[in-house]
Amino acid sequence: MATLRHQIATNVLTVTRFRELLKKVRSYRPNDDLGLIRSAYNYSLLHHTGQQRASGEPYLVHPLEVACVLAEMKLDPIAIVAGLLHDSVEDTSVTIIDIRKEFGEQVAHIVEGVTKISKIDFASSEERQAENVRKMVLAMVDDIRVVLIKLADRLHNMRTLEHLPPERQQRIAKETLEIYAPIAHRLGMGKIRGELEDLGFRYMDPIGYDQVHAAVESRRKAGEHFLAQIEELLREKFKEAGIEALVQSRIKRLYSIHQKILRQRITVDQMYDLFAVRVIANNVQDCYGVLGIIHNLWRPVPSRIKDFIAMPRPNFYQSLHTSVIAENGQPFEVQIRTEEMHKMAEEGIAAHWKYKDGPVSAKDEQRLAWLRQVVEWQRDVSDPNEFLSTLKIDLYPEEVYTFTPKGKVVILPRDATPLDFAYTIHTEVGHTCVGAKVNGRMVPLRYRLHSGDIVEILTQAGHHPSRDWLSVVKSSRARNKIKHWMNVHQRERAIEIGRKLIEKEARKYRVALKDIKEPDFQRVASDYGLGRGDDLLAGIGYGKFPARQVLAKLSPAASESPGEADEEKQSAITSVVRRVFGGDHNAIKVKGHDDLLVYRARCCNPIRGEDIVGYVTRGKGVAVHSRNCPNVTNLMYESERRIAVEWARDTAAAAGYPVKLTLFCDDRAGMLKQITAIISDDNTNIRNIEVRTANSQANIDVVIDIEDLKHLELIVSGLRKIAGVHDVQRVQRV
Ligand code: MN
Repeated sequence: MATLRHQIATNVLTVTRFRELLKKVRSYRPNDDLGLIRSAYNYSLLHHTGQQRASGEPYLVHPLEVACVLAEMKLDPIAIVAGLLHDSVEDTSVTIIDIRKEFGEQVAHIVEGVTKISKIDFASSEERQAENVRKMVLAMVDDIRVVLIKLADRLHNMRTLEHLPPERQQRIAKETLEIYAPIAHRLGMGKIRGELEDLGFRYMDPIGYDQVHAAVESRRKAGEHFLAQIEELLREKFKEAGIEALVQSRIKRLYSIHQKILRQRITVDQMYDLFAVRVIANNVQDCYGVLGIIHNLWRPVPSRIKDFIAMPRPNFYQSLHTSVIAENGQPFEVQIRTEEMHKMAEEGIAAHWKYKDGPVSAKDEQRLAWLRQVVEWQRDVSDPNEFLSTLKIDLYPEEVYTFTPKGKVVILPRDATPLDFAYTIHTEVGHTCVGAKVNGRMVPLRYRLHSGDIVEILTQAGHHPSRDWLSVVKSSRARNKIKHWMNVHQRERAIEIGRKLIEKEARKYRVALKDIKEPDFQRVASDYGLGRGDDLLAGIGYGKFPARQVLAKLSPAASESPGEADEEKQSAITSVVRRVFGGDHNAIKVKGHDDLLVYRARCCNPIRGEDIVGYVTRGKGVAVHSRNCPNVTNLMYESERRIAVEWARDTAAAAGYPVKLTLFCDDRAGMLKQITAIISDDNTNIRNIEVRTANSQANIDVVIDIEDLKHLELIVSGLRKIAGVHDVQRVQRV
């Protein structure tokens, strides 16, 4: 019975509060249809039924109060509706799809954004990360109403924080001070920021709070009296001078006092701005006039006069600041500005942009350009709330903010992939990365990360980077690490190959390689303009210097010893090449070099007669590509590694190259027989045939031995003449 009475009583309370909400919205939106707000209230009432807050109140109180805060900000009905529904997806069985169906795309989009931010666990974020998390929150949302609802949500939670256990109070208060108050600050929402800070301070540091609170309270009465006298005197003096101006005053907020005490190691009484007066004048000229009057009345503190009107802060903050000392020795601050400047400083979105931050970088300059545009735009919109509620945020367009599973923020360039993430964590994590999970789901390494993604990198010992990764990564850090790995490891391989080649050559000339001393290597290396003996071996391995030539320089005996037949020598090298690379080079000559390592690139398998180009690879000798090979354009980025090659004239041993053709043809009886007949008529060897059929069409892959380009062209034209053959294509990879 008692609980029922309690329920009825709270229901009456919420209904009353809801009426107040409607009245408030109607006051600044007289022409809007508020039906959607009513539906949202009923929807929220229905779905939160039976749920209670820690205070014992029905849960509905919370979304209702959040909506009231939003109405205080004079936001549009869509924002109020989203405020009423902001916890429904998180805490009830309702889905975003349900919300979209009932309340439309915009509301669903905003509620989804709020839910997304709520899911982030900021608890583990360290102090130095706070700025990153703030940026991340701003980067994550594309509708400013998401942030405003999140701030209103946090404000009401802070106002009712007393009902939670101390540990949770601490955690939420810390998060409020580190993340939400600064966001409010950045968006120029001074009032909410102040309240969030003082509430956060109270729960975060109860002892410090009590001290500052006591210090201010003991001075409040005298302070308010003092400020009232100052205000009175100023109004009088302005009237005498014929200046129309508004005069306000305030006592500095507790959290700001606390921070100043910590930062400057001063007492409350040493603060010049514990008490402050603000004068809002009609125009800039009057602002300077007011400054003159004030300096005429009281002695200014010299170093504290600041003209932010002539020289605005990077965030466009404009005001004249001065601190003066009253007759009784009490210092106070005066801020003088026009109505327009005041609006920018107090309400203007992002007016406090980068306030008190470091110097303006080029990047900041871009953001400021954006801000400038926003300010311009704001002037054009008659209803400032219209502007606020529809502004699309793109505050950090060039970055994405992601998390490790432990909650550390990782900032990456836009479109970054899990590989970039892995390399940011640690070089070794990058090198051994084999996969990634984003928000618990496996994703490809090419996946584009979004702000708020939680990324888990899967590694495997012994795994190493591949060249393709260079086209996957977006950050220069990852790119450099991969390139570095490639250079180091391919160099190692080149040295190994170089050593094998020279050993082979030495055996042939019966030179004991161990008799050649390090200084000799050094000497020959410097002959080639190289620094170290290893560079020489690497050069041989890369195919830059012929092993025989190097050996002759190392050991004069080698050049004198009776040479074997050239062919044999070549085949000896070839066998090394074959063993190491499995390539063949008999048929290709590198212009001006006798025994460079040459092999046909596997990507295009050039055949005799085709136009070819050589490319000095790292560690594999010279790769020969068909000039049409798509890889050529990509590979030739280092033009100094390009080398002229040609087909050797003598083709005694021309056994032909395997070439794969794919035929697209009708699936009919006798087709295969006709095809094999055409090929065999030319005495061409068929290595393999595979047929796939579907819907009376056939794909036939045939691998044949081709001597040269002419031979290939003959066969292809023959095949094309067969009735029912639609196309014949050469497949580059065999
Ligand atoms: Mn909430």
